[in-house]
Amino acid sequence: MRFLPLAFFSLFFFSSGVRAENKFNFATTPGKLPKDIRPNEYAVRIQPDLERLSFTGAETIKLDVQKPVMKLVLNALELEIGSVSLDGKPLPKKAIALNAGEQTLTLVLPSELPAGQHQLALQFHGKINPQGQGLFYARYQEEGTNEKKIMLGTQFEATDARRMFPCWDEPSFRARFQLTAVVPENFMAISNMPIEEEKNNGESKEVRFATTPSMASYLLVLCAGDLDAIESQQDGVKLRVVTTKGKAEMGRYALESEAKILHFYNDYFGISYPLPKLDLIAVPGGFGGAMENWGGITFYESALLFDPKNSSAQTKEDIFAVVAHEMAHQWFGDLVTMAWWDNLWLNEGFASWMGSKCTDHFNPAWHDWLRRNVPRDPTRRVGFPKDTAMQGDARSTTHPVQQPITTEAQAGSAFDEITYRKGMSILRMLESFLGENVFRDGIRKYIAAQKYSNSTTADLWQALTEASGKPVGEIAPGWTEQPGFPLVKVSREGTTIKLAQERFTVDFPNPPALQWQIPLTYVTQDQPATNGFLLRDETANLPNELPIDHAIKFNVEDSGYYRVEYDDTSWKLLAAQLGRLSEADRVNLLIDAWALVEANHKPLSHYLELVNQLLNDDQLGVYDQVIDTFTYVNRLLSGNPLRPQFQQYARALLRPAFDRVGWDPKSNEPFQRGFLRASLIRGLGVLDDSDIVAGCRSRFDRYLSDPSTVAPDLRPAIFSVVGRYADSQTWEKLHRMALKTGSVEEKQYLYDALANAIDPRLVRRTIPIALSDEMTTSRAAFLLPFIARHGEHPELVWEFARAHMKELLAKQDALGIDGFAPGLFIYFSEPKDSETLEAYAKSSLPPSAAKAVAKAVEEIHFRAEFKERLTPQLASWIENGSR
Ligand SMILES: [Zn+2]
Repeated sequence: MRFLPLAFFSLFFFSSGVRAENKFNFATTPGKLPKDIRPNEYAVRIQPDLERLSFTGAETIKLDVQKPVMKLVLNALELEIGSVSLDGKPLPKKAIALNAGEQTLTLVLPSELPAGQHQLALQFHGKINPQGQGLFYARYQEEGTNEKKIMLGTQFEATDARRMFPCWDEPSFRARFQLTAVVPENFMAISNMPIEEEKNNGESKEVRFATTPSMASYLLVLCAGDLDAIESQQDGVKLRVVTTKGKAEMGRYALESEAKILHFYNDYFGISYPLPKLDLIAVPGGFGGAMENWGGITFYESALLFDPKNSSAQTKEDIFAVVAHEMAHQWFGDLVTMAWWDNLWLNEGFASWMGSKCTDHFNPAWHDWLRRNVPRDPTRRVGFPKDTAMQGDARSTTHPVQQPITTEAQAGSAFDEITYRKGMSILRMLESFLGENVFRDGIRKYIAAQKYSNSTTADLWQALTEASGKPVGEIAPGWTEQPGFPLVKVSREGTTIKLAQERFTVDFPNPPALQWQIPLTYVTQDQPATNGFLLRDETANLPNELPIDHAIKFNVEDSGYYRVEYDDTSWKLLAAQLGRLSEADRVNLLIDAWALVEANHKPLSHYLELVNQLLNDDQLGVYDQVIDTFTYVNRLLSGNPLRPQFQQYARALLRPAFDRVGWDPKSNEPFQRGFLRASLIRGLGVLDDSDIVAGCRSRFDRYLSDPSTVAPDLRPAIFSVVGRYADSQTWEKLHRMALKTGSVEEKQYLYDALANAIDPRLVRRTIPIALSDEMTTSRAAFLLPFIARHGEHPELVWEFARAHMKELLAKQDALGIDGFAPGLFIYFSEPKDSETLEAYAKSSLPPSAAKAVAKAVEEIHFRAEFKERLTPQLASWIENGSR
């Protein structure tokens, strides 16, 4: 059963129970600010003070007042407001009211302001933040020198433009922005548009950028520092990679990728990238991700810079994937912006899907779709695996892709795996349902209809319906407006294939029953081309009969967002044909088998029997799934007497593959062999394989005297194993190297290694690094969650976090703050730990953290229950020698 990318569907359409939302309409878009005043154009001037880490600002805003008003309400946060004037007339001080809780600035007018054009002018003062919100700074050591320098950057999404200038800071209040910045004379300043004018004032210079097209406030950007750039040109657009001095050449790979991707998207979207330039800016700290500011995308520098001598193949893949994702946003997000944060998936699900499509187009050998479905290598920090999204989506604390958002904190917490990964999976499923070309035509219609404007999900469904002639608006909303996803049960009666759907849940008593219209795909033993069937009812029979001894496999290539449970007959027939399935199909069976064990639909043996059958031909995806599962079980068994036996059992399963691939890369080995080698080293290391641990130690010692002796692809795995079993001396060595190295990538692997240590005395030494200045703010923010996850002492992490919560939260950006404390708890598996969290939440966390707390409590509850259920089954499986 081989996959052929040909899909056709048997279609029967009936209206579903889900009611679709309305198309975009400015007046009815949710939000806090009154809709009767719209800003058209801002001229903003910012003058940072790098000594005091503050800035002064001035702006004039051209307003379109739709009906007479007595007050103006806009957003401002942590700003001091100086003078305010309207149409040239100053407002008295008492007319100006800041509301910190609401994050608004209200200007009470002395008399009614008539409808029409008006001009508002403000002067203000604010601070430059150490973490990535509003205007921020990053301190760094310049490449090849000992000089400590400072760079400025901005991060405004979701709701932090209001920290740099008072504005209508909601995505549907689009306007044109003209930014001016006053920076030190030696600085390069970058914004969305090219520089229009630069005036030297001696020590400093005033840089005025060209006015942007109409866009949302969260997409404005300002970066400035002692910077370098390399540039090229593609389709009439000037492309650059901008870095701190001395690193520009490391941007070469990103620059080459940028040109390819731009051309690909210009064609795909049918509307060429509309700005004259596109900068990719490497920021050495302050924030930790990447941000799609129109024309000036910012990246934490390790997500953009590639050193051909020392970077791993994984880093290369991640750079391409992140650049492809952020560039997709230049259309999805920037040119067309979701009307409100309840439709954030239109930005993030789309950019994730488009990014993968583009990555796969240029790099088919990477198997990007497949590798994004499986949880794997923890050093890969890019995106959420699909299976992780599905695990969360099976619980009671999940939410629909489209969810009501009323507060700023809720907007921040919407950036989760459901928005990104479920959104992306739904699009992939719809694309295979409608066909690649029809889907693209629909996207072109959507972009053309909504450009320089906003949109809702309903606008997208309408464009896809028009392009395909199929009622997408009836099939799709079930996937975005309902939480969760279906389990499809497959059974046979003679030659008839019977299908039934139910909601798939884990540890969720009495879930509300839901139903979906499921675009199923399948292959059969004699029909290797992909078939489609739209399962719209609770039960149905497949229209085609199947010989009683022929196997059938659903969810071809793991491209759907549902799980499948086969009856015994179907499962046995399928198990006999595993050798003919693609890697993605095998991984799909493993993922579903494990999920069915978690959900208590199947015993553990169901999964382990499949593992026995699949661990033979060294496929990376298969091993990554198994290693991830074994690592999870190993963690669950921490302190359990069964653990050594489990480790021995699991090592025996994985070790033969390692003995086949060996320690050293061979010339002309298959591309993914290097990843498999690293995965096995890491997996066997966690399972305490003494040969592997010794091999990692000796290679690490060699690396200390000559780094070229260890291939870049193996370094993170080797460091992590060395770190896990480190003694005090080794910890010192790793730490000294981490302090010394100038490579951001190597530095990160070394801190990861320290965070892996299982010796509690070393854990206590690693934890306080989160509060020191030795890591950048954004990396320090991730250190404790990483230790909680990969070390074995979450209780030590919590003890420290509880005592230093205020300082720790000061390092988090807006997106990280509510989930920080609950996030440290999800690796506990004792009921008492959930009580600790709940008590802490009650006394010390804001109400906006409630969702994250509920999620963590649920996870602890599940782990405790699963551990009870798993242990006896595992003991008897091992005892009976069933491998
Ligand atoms: Zn994104």
